[in-house]
Amino acid sequence: MISLKQAKSIISENIFILKDEKVNIKQSVGRILRENIVASFPSPRFDNSAMDGFAVRAGDTKNATADKPTELKIVDISSAGTPSDITIGLGECIQCMTGAEIPKGADSIVMVEDTSGFSDNSHVKVMISVPHGAHIRKKGEEINIDDLLIKKGTRITANELGTCATFGYGKLSVSKKPKISIFGTGNELVEPGEKLAKGQIYNSNLYVFKDLAEKAGSKIEMSEVIKDDKDSLKSFLSEALEVSDVIISSGGVSMGRYDYVRDVFIDLGVKEHFWKVAQKPGKPLFFGTKENKLIFGLPGNPVSSFIGFMEWVWPVLITMMGEKSEKSIYGILDEPFPRERTKHRFLFGRAKYKNGKLVCRPTNRIGSHMLTSALGANCILGSDPGEGSLNPGDLIKVNLLPWKNIQ
Ligand code: AMP
Ligand code: MG
Repeated sequence: MISLKQAKSIISENIFILKDEKVNIKQSVGRILRENIVASFPSPRFDNSAMDGFAVRAGDTKNATADKPTELKIVDISSAGTPSDITIGLGECIQCMTGAEIPKGADSIVMVEDTSGFSDNSHVKVMISVPHGAHIRKKGEEINIDDLLIKKGTRITANELGTCATFGYGKLSVSKKPKISIFGTGNELVEPGEKLAKGQIYNSNLYVFKDLAEKAGSKIEMSEVIKDDKDSLKSFLSEALEVSDVIISSGGVSMGRYDYVRDVFIDLGVKEHFWKVAQKPGKPLFFGTKENKLIFGLPGNPVSSFIGFMEWVWPVLITMMGEKSEKSIYGILDEPFPRERTKHRFLFGRAKYKNGKLVCRPTNRIGSHMLTSALGANCILGSDPGEGSLNPGDLIKVNLLPWKNIQ
């Protein structure tokens, strides 16, 4: 059995970064950027109007009031996408819509509300004196050309997508998706929706794995529940080893008489790096490699499988795609946490802000077979080995589940 730290360091020695590929921006959500996004032009790209109104020379409006409006000659119209070529002279103006380029000669915009309004007349009455530069969005006031906008390693969400589109990126360089095969083992497993016979239970782990793998950004190549039988395991795994970057199994890696997963991995040429880690739940954790493929064997108890995926597999998938990983955060316990003397202890937890502090506690069921402990959880709490329980007021590491919020 090795420590959590040793196990993490063995994994990081064996991890590899996936190749990148160009995808259309339309298919880029959720992918990890592998290029810096740089401004190819300043933003705004040209001086333009922030309001629907009239482009004027501010000096011409100097004496304008509601009681004594100033009349200006309308010489053209500039709308978004259709600029005017005319240069305005003394006493002239151009009707100018929001987003339209500011015509030459103009230095301010009078809002249409402060005039006699848009019309086909030759003149407009201006009822307000505007300062130089009024309602003009200046070229480059937001972003300069060549500014770094988004760093590589960022996951693309609506926040990034808008900026990529604004700067005209039709294609983006992103990490290839990790190709994943997942499988569960157990003669007792039946699919939800089917009838259970004596001694059987429903397969839950593969449903959890599929969602977690896809949330992390990977593509599931193969997924199957397999009987505790060497030949079936061998035939699934030899194909999975061909088509996957990462293989993740649940069950069949402990000490049971029918736990064949480890033997079959080894028979198929997988190099075992470790098999047992000082953690609870999930001690019989297998990690192996074959060429550029990473193989994780997680124990079948549903909490061990779920927490094992989040603590061991998720960070690997993220790193393979080149995503910057989140820094660890710590919270203050408001209930005791059952620490283990020699093992790292993980439990589903609930974290919330109280008087500006992150306060957390384990959810109320602690058995590794009690998957309802995930209900209501928004994090996994993890403590190093140590004597006795951690107490209210003590700090504990909080691994937030990325798809949950802190309320
Ligand atoms: P194992 O690691 O195969 O010894 O399994 C440990 C426990 O997890 C047993 O109670 C299994 O029935 C259960 N288990 C294994 N695989 C699954 C699964 N896919 N879904 C739900 N429970 C499972
Ligand atoms: Mg089993």
